Amino acid sequence: MKTILVTGGAGFIGSHLCEKLLEQGDYVICLDNLFTGSTENIQHLLQNKNFEFVKHDIIEPFFYKRKNKGDGRIDQIYNLACPASPVHYQFNAIRTIKANTIGVINMLGLARKHKARFLQASTSEVYGDPLVHPQPESYRGNVTTIGPRACYDEGKRVAETLCFDYNRQNKVDICVVRIFNTYGPKMALNDGRVVSNFIMQALQGKDITIYGDGSQTRSFCYVDDMVHGLILAMNKKNFKGPVNLGNPDEFTVLELAKKVKVFTRSRSKIVFKQLPQDDPKQRKPIIKVALKELGWKPIVKLKNGLSHTISYFEKIL
Ligand code: UDP
Repeated sequence: MKTILVTGGAGFIGSHLCEKLLEQGDYVICLDNLFTGSTENIQHLLQNKNFEFVKHDIIEPFFYKRKNKGDGRIDQIYNLACPASPVHYQFNAIRTIKANTIGVINMLGLARKHKARFLQASTSEVYGDPLVHPQPESYRGNVTTIGPRACYDEGKRVAETLCFDYNRQNKVDICVVRIFNTYGPKMALNDGRVVSNFIMQALQGKDITIYGDGSQTRSFCYVDDMVHGLILAMNKKNFKGPVNLGNPDEFTVLELAKKVKVFTRSRSKIVFKQLPQDDPKQRKPIIKVALKELGWKPIVKLKNGLSHTISYFEKIL
């Protein structure tokens, strides 16, 4: 039985990951400051004797002492703590930067102390508004240092740098994964993301709001595929990455709106609003590295993933 720390464990991807790790028979410590995460996501895990929830912000150092059993050593750390939707990470930009610098330093320090393997949840946002399409890991990105998305994009870039420096200097065993747009049950209803917004709007008969003309593209990965990829990356010995994890099936935002409208049988109107500043025009991962190194590729088609997600939102509403 491994002892695994998941920061951001009460968040969307984090809570799915905690669930999967418990299913595998691991002991899971879930750390979350509950800014965007929610105890509802982990409610069903709280009774599990192999699960511990600690309300904690990674901006503060964390010293772990296991309450019940074992030697208190942490074997693996998944660092997922950081608001990830543009609305939330821009809400307090300085805090977002702190999570990606001070927070990552704290967690890398913890990994060093425990000799734990450390997986950093990076992002496709490190490619910014990409001039190379689709994006391989070798692409260095087109990111502005001063725009409203920079707190997240540049934050995640320096987080990657910190991982590799802690590896070179302190021999911390690291792995960097670049997560592309992910969706599924337990997405926060109010996080402003395109999938959750469109589904909510369609189910409530409200206008479906496309920012810009809807020609910008994204590639959407279902959360189960993502969690599988994260676990494979963590458990691949000596694999540092960076590795793209995402679904290479690319859709325009307008196509997504139409699909959501059809799948929800909604009468909502599709309306066009102003495009936010620095909104990337296109995004699609090349996943050759994931396939070769991890034997991973996503298997859930958008149609099926959307229908699971819509059922979840229907229940919540
Ligand atoms: N978007 C949209 N309508 C919405 C929310 C988002 O058209 O109600 C667009 C957004 O401008 C972007 C894309 O959908 O082009 C994906 O946005 P999201 O916030 O989900 O994630 P991003 O990939 O931009 O981080």
